[in-house]
Amino acid sequence: MAGLHFLLVPLVAQGHIIPMVDLACLLAGRGARVTVVTTPVNAARNRAAVESARRAGLDVELAEVAFPGPELGLPEGVENVDLVVEKDHFLAFFQAIWRMDSPLEEYVRSLPRRPDCLVADACNPWTAAVCARHGIPRLVMHCPSAYFLLATHNLSTHGVYGRVAGELEKFEVPDFPVRAVGNTATFRGFFQWPFMEEYQREVAEAEATADGLLINTFRDIEAVFVDRYAAALGRLTWAVGPTCASGLDDADARAGRGNRADVDAGLVVSWLDARPPSSVLYVSFGSIANQSAKQVVEIARGLEASRRPFVWAIKEARSNSGVQAWLAAEGFEERVRDRGLLVRGWAPQVTILSHPAVGGFLSHCGWNATLEAISHGVPVLTWPVLADQFCSERLLADVLDVGVRSGVTLPIMNLPEEAEGVQVTSADVEKAVAELMDEGPVGSARRARAKELAAKAKAAMEDGGSSYAYLTDMIDHVAELSRKSHGRDMNARALRSVSELGSNNGDAIEAGASLSVHS
Ligand code: UDP
Repeated sequence: MAGLHFLLVPLVAQGHIIPMVDLACLLAGRGARVTVVTTPVNAARNRAAVESARRAGLDVELAEVAFPGPELGLPEGVENVDLVVEKDHFLAFFQAIWRMDSPLEEYVRSLPRRPDCLVADACNPWTAAVCARHGIPRLVMHCPSAYFLLATHNLSTHGVYGRVAGELEKFEVPDFPVRAVGNTATFRGFFQWPFMEEYQREVAEAEATADGLLINTFRDIEAVFVDRYAAALGRLTWAVGPTCASGLDDADARAGRGNRADVDAGLVVSWLDARPPSSVLYVSFGSIANQSAKQVVEIARGLEASRRPFVWAIKEARSNSGVQAWLAAEGFEERVRDRGLLVRGWAPQVTILSHPAVGGFLSHCGWNATLEAISHGVPVLTWPVLADQFCSERLLADVLDVGVRSGVTLPIMNLPEEAEGVQVTSADVEKAVAELMDEGPVGSARRARAKELAAKAKAAMEDGGSSYAYLTDMIDHVAELSRKSHGRDMNARALRSVSELGSNNGDAIEAGASLSVHS
């Protein structure tokens, strides 16, 4: 392991950068040198977490490469999916991501020594050509669940997506370890949009040619999905998660995950300290999913009626003028002052979830949020909004039995306009919160299952655990690939010098040929 240098290239989205920084810490914890390559805005957001890892003695650093957004007409500084506010900018944003190959290549060229491995987010297939040109072994890192990967793979290879009449036609996922029913809208693969087919094809190709796959999950929750996916793809696959349990556990690292919190983490902790164990509901829809103003009001009324203490990461209070107006006019905050804490913007999520006062999580079921809930033994009120989130809900509610459904059935973009973004009424919110936070036998059993999973997640990441062993195996594999490629380099150098000699000496050319045969 000594001397191995990894470059990590995350997709520029919070749900992808955060686990990649975690992975960096895990690799550095095993003695590697790790560089996370990202754009200036994303580097700034993650500097606190990286600095805290460095203070803990880990050899982790950030390297900045330019984001080509302005070349495509994007405003300066729009370097993360959660900073794209105009719908029309999304395509240009992904085009800009695809153009990051040049700045990455320039950075690789500037290095005194070729890195031993590049770990690219699965959504960054443009890294493949850079690695091929420079002879760098390349691994692909998946940030959603293995459940989602296998389901979308099977639906695609069995031709189900092509067969159904529309996005809402019901089907069952074929050849799947558990019964899973849904439609294209709730089983949509990444980049599975008519205008992104080329992107999707490149993602599949880069995965099929990778030197191995990493999945941020662990065997106790997803062994069957991991194994079937690895077999289907025929690639070496390592389940190395949950990366959020990277062991880097100081308060700064937790509070600074992904961004500087828009609230003093210490104040949140004091607020939680004053509440009984498992009594507080934490509410967050992650970094991208936004609710409509009407739906926010239904949630607020449901939380108020629930009479439970809650912390609500309400980013719509910053971005949605309707929500701002309602909050200013309605006196909601005043009425729930004794038991409701509103975080306008970025919340220190792991600080909150790791506090013993938190007993439930109303979540959009992003895969990181899901793993963070599992790792901290917190049952989830599932409210998926888009992408792989409907699969995380199925895993939590149907497979692991630690979730209570909110009743959402469709991604927000599939709702008819007249619904105005509302899928769950305040009465349903109130009912679902009561069910999740129930202190009777059903709720207690669910909480006990969640705690068991948390213990398993921790054990998986420790020496002797499955994810620990996978990471060891992956590092060994990289060391082997690196030895081979450096061996090839040495032979190539030897061949070059021998053939230079050989222009004067035929025997030397033969010696060079035998060197290459034995490489
Ligand atoms: N997160 C956070 N504070 C927030 C919102 C999100 O720390 O206010 C973190 C969260 O802990 C998770 C990541 O951002 O690690 C979001 O990833 P996830 O997969 O849950 O959802 P996404 O934002 O990609 O939809």
